[in-house]
Amino acid sequence: MKGDLEGNWQKGELQPFGNLEVSPAAGVLNYGQGVFEGMKAYKTADDRVLMFRPEENALRLVESAERMSMPAPDIETFLNAVKQTVLANKRWIPPAGKGSLYIRPLLIGTGPILGLAPAPEYTFLIYVSPVGTYFKGGLSPIDLKVETFFHRAAPGGTGAAKTISNYAPVLKTQLAAKGKGYSDVIYLDAVENKYVEEVSSCNIFIVKDKVISTPELAGTILPGITRKSIIQLARSRGYEVNERPVSVDELLDADDVFCTGTAVVLNPVGSITHGTRRVQYNNGAVGAVSQELYEALTSLQMGKSKDNFDWVVELD
Ligand code: PMP
Repeated sequence: MKGDLEGNWQKGELQPFGNLEVSPAAGVLNYGQGVFEGMKAYKTADDRVLMFRPEENALRLVESAERMSMPAPDIETFLNAVKQTVLANKRWIPPAGKGSLYIRPLLIGTGPILGLAPAPEYTFLIYVSPVGTYFKGGLSPIDLKVETFFHRAAPGGTGAAKTISNYAPVLKTQLAAKGKGYSDVIYLDAVENKYVEEVSSCNIFIVKDKVISTPELAGTILPGITRKSIIQLARSRGYEVNERPVSVDELLDADDVFCTGTAVVLNPVGSITHGTRRVQYNNGAVGAVSQELYEALTSLQMGKSKDNFDWVVELD
């Protein structure tokens, strides 16, 4: 689908997966005007196709686009395009319990622009791919490393937007950590280098004495849809959940730590390394709260438990 800076969009159509042709002067190539979303579709045992809170992704795309001076398709257009794309690819959705279809809506500045300014034209497209679990080993605790030199986002920057330019700086730290056997990196705040922000592609929670805490949305972390859902889900199950600054000391002193995101779903953390200190949680086994919330979330997403929140959307 193509649109202009004023937000007038032409009608889109389904196309086979293939290369794009863009100007070398495209806004996305030169000035990073690109935002995206990550969503999943699940197949149930009786062949229904389910999605989780897709309107939240539509809303977040609008907010991310606004931060990057880009027009975005409206909520209804976004949802219709996602639905059409998923149903056209139904045969690629793995059977129930075997994975999901990852959906990548991408909005980029494709119009040419030489001087620093928003591109005159935009392209909104969606591509999909079947996926299994994000981290190797499925629901098994991961080892994370706290990054103390590089930062993911600065106050007043673009950390709260799902923009492509937030991911390039992460590649270097993530690669280095993976090279040392860690699954991913935990970023700290750029001002005091003391408060936990998030992981390269997921939000983080700690549990201490049955109280759950997660870094507050202060403009430098992505407002994860899984994060928001886990907060609601945990509260509905009687947990106290706080959104507040979480220090790295508290992280290392927690009883249970887990990450949340569309790709990772909910993944327990087995150990965290900060400098020369390494802390293991639950002797490297899955923590009780992680396990409980993982089951509550996934049974909802896969249509196995009653959806009291009205979060699950069936495509037909
Ligand atoms: N933080 C970052 C940086 C991410 O890329 C993601 C994945 N979208 C998340 C958090 C989790 O967000 P969500 O639960 O909406 O997938």
